[in-house]
Amino acid sequence: MKTTLRGIALLALAVHAVAETQYIRFGKLIDGKGKVWTNVAVVVENDRIRSVENDTQPPTGATVIDLRRYTAIPGMIDAHTHMTYYWDQTPGTIPWTQSGARQSQVTVFLAQENALKTLQAGVTTVRDLGSSEYADIAMRDLINRGAMLGPRMFVSGYGLSVTRRPARPGFAFPPGGTADGVAEVLRVVRQQVAAGADVIKMYASTGSDQDVTGFQTFTYEEIKAAADAAHGLGRKLAVHSYGPDGARDAVRAGADSIEHSTDMDDPTIAEMVRRGTFYVPTIDHNRYYVEYRQQFGYNEAVAARLNDYIRRNLETARRAHKAGVRFAMGSDAVFTMFGQNTRELEWFVKAGMTPEQALVTATTNGAALLGMENSLGAIAPGYFADIVAVEGDPMQDIGVVIRNVRWVMKGGKVIP
Ligand SMILES: [Zn+2]
Repeated sequence: MKTTLRGIALLALAVHAVAETQYIRFGKLIDGKGKVWTNVAVVVENDRIRSVENDTQPPTGATVIDLRRYTAIPGMIDAHTHMTYYWDQTPGTIPWTQSGARQSQVTVFLAQENALKTLQAGVTTVRDLGSSEYADIAMRDLINRGAMLGPRMFVSGYGLSVTRRPARPGFAFPPGGTADGVAEVLRVVRQQVAAGADVIKMYASTGSDQDVTGFQTFTYEEIKAAADAAHGLGRKLAVHSYGPDGARDAVRAGADSIEHSTDMDDPTIAEMVRRGTFYVPTIDHNRYYVEYRQQFGYNEAVAARLNDYIRRNLETARRAHKAGVRFAMGSDAVFTMFGQNTRELEWFVKAGMTPEQALVTATTNGAALLGMENSLGAIAPGYFADIVAVEGDPMQDIGVVIRNVRWVMKGGKVIP
């Protein structure tokens, strides 16, 4: 018995010792640490980056990958997805209704398509903010064990919501996240952490798909309870607020990120700068609804309302950026929006960012929001080998990272 165990241990050591080394050449590389390299090689050992160096001689036995035509950027991070919102595009069906009627076990399997499209867009990590029956946890774990192809997922389980009328026929807020009052908020936060959630999501206002109202739902005390409970358990709190009131209270209650929010007042924006609260405006989410309004059955009045929301959302982003708020790129991707995850970056440039600043929101900032700044969001020694090759210069044109992704590696594995 003793010998067998020792044998297994030795075998494990042997497997570890035969490291797979890859030597990847790029014409240019933006490392996410503030440096732009030319004629560079990234040495990858198993799933991590061993070094970034001037392209000279590959180490003996290394697999050489020649991408000298391209620019490397760190694998991008989408800080707001709903990976388990899946629609099979059957004519005559509505995404929301179909999604709400399906078993979660089936959804987990079908949603692989969303995960793969996300990866192929150069997004190697997501923060998934809201699912039901822990389908998100199942996907995260399947991806982590290599049984499913997809980005690294940091998931929230059930998003917390107050008792409300169903937001739409066939797709009410899942009851598992319902909480009224501080005691219930504490219970639901703890339940999500116990189930395996990485982050806590709270819906502090009305507003979702065609509904762009932003009435505050949770009180300051309830949001504060969620923030303290999440932080006490080593988790961060993401607060959804379409309107300014929920955002105002969420910032002061200690939320780590504010999702969506339009029309935030100057003192709230100043407080975000002071506290380092992230803003994840998800402007492109409503562009998607307007563009695909036929799929959702939205008429012109709905489209006009969504467009008005986009305008206010962009204006709020402009003011927040000018004031110095930290942004993270979040698509709020649902259904057929996967694959378009990074289009949010174009809005950020419209809001006044340089392409370089926009890219930071999808790399360094996304990693910081996840608390993963030492292993994600950069191409540097010790970091996960999450690398994207794009054709063109992202420093000149952010469209390059949106439309010209040519090659994606996640954890040392090239994505087909
Ligand atoms: Zn969302």
